[in-house]
Amino acid sequence: MNNIAFNNSYVTLGESFYVKTLPTPVAQPALIKFNEALAETLGLSAANPDSAEAATLFAGNYIAEGAEPLAMAYAGHQFGHFNPQLGDGRAILLGEIMDAEGTRFDMQLKGSGRTFYSRDGDGRAALGPVLREYLVSEAMAKLAVPTTRALAAVTTGEQVARERLLPGGIITRIAKSFVRVGTFQYFSAKGDVAAIQKLADYIIERNYPLAAETAHPYTALLAAVVDSQAALIARWMQLGFIHGVMNTDNMSIAGETIDYGPCAFMDHYQHDRVFSSIDRQGRYAYSRQPSIGLWNLTRLAESLLPLLAEDTNVAADIARDILEAYVTSYQDNWLSGMRAKCGLSATADNIKKADRELIEELFNLMAINDADFTLTFYYLSQLTAQPSVQDRKLRSLFATPAQLDGWLLKWRRRLSEEAQSDEHRQKKMQVVNPVYIPRNHQIEAAIRAAEDHADFSVFHDLHEVLQNPYVQQTGREKYMLPPEPGEVVKQTFCGT
Ligand code: AMP
Ligand code: MG
Repeated sequence: MNNIAFNNSYVTLGESFYVKTLPTPVAQPALIKFNEALAETLGLSAANPDSAEAATLFAGNYIAEGAEPLAMAYAGHQFGHFNPQLGDGRAILLGEIMDAEGTRFDMQLKGSGRTFYSRDGDGRAALGPVLREYLVSEAMAKLAVPTTRALAAVTTGEQVARERLLPGGIITRIAKSFVRVGTFQYFSAKGDVAAIQKLADYIIERNYPLAAETAHPYTALLAAVVDSQAALIARWMQLGFIHGVMNTDNMSIAGETIDYGPCAFMDHYQHDRVFSSIDRQGRYAYSRQPSIGLWNLTRLAESLLPLLAEDTNVAADIARDILEAYVTSYQDNWLSGMRAKCGLSATADNIKKADRELIEELFNLMAINDADFTLTFYYLSQLTAQPSVQDRKLRSLFATPAQLDGWLLKWRRRLSEEAQSDEHRQKKMQVVNPVYIPRNHQIEAAIRAAEDHADFSVFHDLHEVLQNPYVQQTGREKYMLPPEPGEVVKQTFCGT
């Protein structure tokens, strides 16, 4: 593992973009998990590393040759309030690597010690959030949601002081880029247009090369980011995922889900569901995610204005048009994904419009009936065009099953417009309707076992189930079920 072929580019942008910082060594690093499959796709040698060696590397105790550790500068709106300087306070970019196709990835340690940007923080991460991020980000990857990846997790042998003393951990994350909306805001707040342009050129070359081939690359960049966020947030909505802290510093320019904090998947469907203990106003509630996405992208557009046109009115018009396209793009993404989940593929416009109403009606029924989000769609994917005993499983998820019957009737009538066999439709539905999602109570159980008893078996079991989310696995039934009343997790914590 000590011959990682680092190929660093961010460091060449210049010192206003970061502060060079070494990780602070920890007392006793021990490897919890190394992501061999990911390592292989990244071309990292020794896919099966010596665990002690990997632990020192992924704890930041040993700096591999070619690494140029740095903390990135960024700003951000946190719950609507602008902070001109946030930056990596507990994360350190080790460097960049290229996969076989030449795609560049950032490799970052999180929980690796204080940096210039740490303010009052200790620069550390508790073990719980490390395990949560590992489980959820890897599950997201398997659920076809763009996301940062987890390459490794270690324990530090040290304690971190939160509400109480907790074991410390460090996660190594891989991203197409850790540049955020807040990175552009950082330079915008300083009025440093040259830096904004430099960063935009960097991102175009690295993440949106097609924009370079257009007549207006910066306009194309903004449009591409807007598009990728519209697609990303639609994916979250289709799976019942709630990010929890959609601050502009937690919104990736590369369109990946980043910074897993108090995130959660819903069990029973609730339109305005909030899990995060710090989100008291429900700013980042499930139903608000699409509009918050637009709010954040508007902040990005503001930062890019000086690049869009010389005349500020012209620039503002360009930005407005692109932001308007977000709404259509999001709605299209949402509808096409939801139609796939319901097994609907006929493409006539009037059918699509009626499908939207049909799907919205289902969500309303789920909300009134406390129906489990994931199982509703999974059981729906098992139904035949004719009523059968299979209907019972789906109906049983609804508090008043009879309320679903009218909807099922409409859905079946609608299926008659589909020129596909039950078998074919079910197959297509089952590759978009997971059996397993990282349920909160299961994550909590994994964290409890690890924190309280240094037992990582629950974490490993859960991780393994989530590697194959679309296939029902024998003996793993408990992982598909919502929590028992005593297991319900009502709130999640940043726990940084
Ligand atoms: P987040 O909650 O991950 O979006 O973090 C918001 C900001 O607080 C970022 O600048 C983080 O680097 C910083 N931060 C969060 N936790 C810590 C910590 N324990 N030590 C230092 N900085 C932190
Ligand atoms: Mg963050």
